[in-house]
Amino acid sequence: MSAPAARAAALERYEAVIGIEVHCQVRTASKMFCACAVPPPDAAPNTHTCPVCLALPGTLPTINRAAVEHVLTTGLAIGASVPPATRWDRKNYFYPDLPKGYQISQYDLPLAANGSLTVETSEGPVTIGITRAHLEEDTAKLIHAAAPDGRRVSLVDFNRAGVPLMEIVTEPDVRSAEQARRYAEELRLLLRAIDVSDAEMENGQLRVEANVSLRPRGTGPFGTRVEVKNMNSIRAVERAIDFEIERQAAALDGGEPLRQETRGWDDAAGATYVMRVKESSDDYRYFPEPDLPPLVIDAAWLAALRAALPELPAARRARYRALGLPAYDAAVLVNDEGMRVAFEAILAAGPGLPPKEVANLVTGDYGRALNETAERTASGLAGRADAASLAHVLGEVVAGRLSRANAKEVVAEHVVGGRPAAAVIAERGFAQISDADAVGRIVDAVLAANPAAVADVRAGRSQALGFLVGQAMKASRGQANAAVVQAAVRERLGRGGDG
Ligand SMILES: [Zn+2]
Repeated sequence: MSAPAARAAALERYEAVIGIEVHCQVRTASKMFCACAVPPPDAAPNTHTCPVCLALPGTLPTINRAAVEHVLTTGLAIGASVPPATRWDRKNYFYPDLPKGYQISQYDLPLAANGSLTVETSEGPVTIGITRAHLEEDTAKLIHAAAPDGRRVSLVDFNRAGVPLMEIVTEPDVRSAEQARRYAEELRLLLRAIDVSDAEMENGQLRVEANVSLRPRGTGPFGTRVEVKNMNSIRAVERAIDFEIERQAAALDGGEPLRQETRGWDDAAGATYVMRVKESSDDYRYFPEPDLPPLVIDAAWLAALRAALPELPAARRARYRALGLPAYDAAVLVNDEGMRVAFEAILAAGPGLPPKEVANLVTGDYGRALNETAERTASGLAGRADAASLAHVLGEVVAGRLSRANAKEVVAEHVVGGRPAAAVIAERGFAQISDADAVGRIVDAVLAANPAAVADVRAGRSQALGFLVGQAMKASRGQANAAVVQAAVRERLGRGGDG
């Protein structure tokens, strides 16, 4: 049986119960509890540290306000509730990546709780409950390497220690790998839209973990839970969960007990592997952080953050749908910031243009030009484009004065050189001839020059009709409106619209 078929068969017998945990590096200038700059991904090891994030005795933490605001903004964007006050807790464990021997985190009073995110899937919309979003500090990074004398050593880079990290945890509401992928995609889009993180999975700004278990369909109790880590792309999230569903179903079918364990995803092998077996649940002995005061979130602060929220991706898609765009187009535009900006700008510059035509231009000819240059205007358009020119091109196409093939060239030339589209159309001689009299004169000349083809058409051989239309287009150097040419030829040869 093929892998997808095996999975489909497994999912007929078992229901997958999946919860997703995301760690997101929120965008701040400095670290969570000290004044160190947040290091760029390529910083040399241990160049962004201070006595606070190295946990030297006698140092005290101070709270990064921007990091708190990013989590509150996220909470508002997922419809979560925010408590009037919260506090910090110490999560205790001993590991070389944790200089203090504890991590400052939030335990029973997260900054945001009880939110949700609705995602579109192939089976329709699915709402995934979000239990909580809280703030904590990142750990240092361990690098396992060989020393010059050949011994295996573990090195510690403290650059990442103390970088603000938001943890977002879902309810066990996810039922398939596809839903998990869509959740990760939608959350990434949301975090970027509200400007709290670049959320690049490739450099660890967004880390996704999944808790996966199966239960026989129609039963309530959860099965044995396996935690899956090290998924370094959205696609890896989907593949890893699909693999786990299949692996767990095979084990259950074979009467093999599943272990509660943490597994890593090996992208090259396309399989998960055991990282560690959990004998019992972790006991972190959480207790309130005595070095930080409780954090009061007053209503005015929260109201100001709410007022600053931009239009969220879901609302934007709904607005585009209401303009008459198909769901696919709305999603493509909302997912691509460059295209979204152009769509909005062209609609504003040409309010009478049909939105679907604007979307076609943006995802087609303009989208190609957008991909070909990294240059952007102050308003975020590709190259040296301006919205008025792009609206003009589309207006000419819609009015039948510019062919779509020529429009493509005008857009490409305008984006690169920045010359007004009207000037490009005039100079290139692209103005389309739609005037019936002007087209009629061209057609008359072509018919007079091709008596054999005219006789063929009259004898019912309709291929000759296409030949005559082609000759007329050629005679106009491509400028004639093809539909008007066709109508003129048919009219003169007494062939109606029946082909
Ligand atoms: Zn520091």
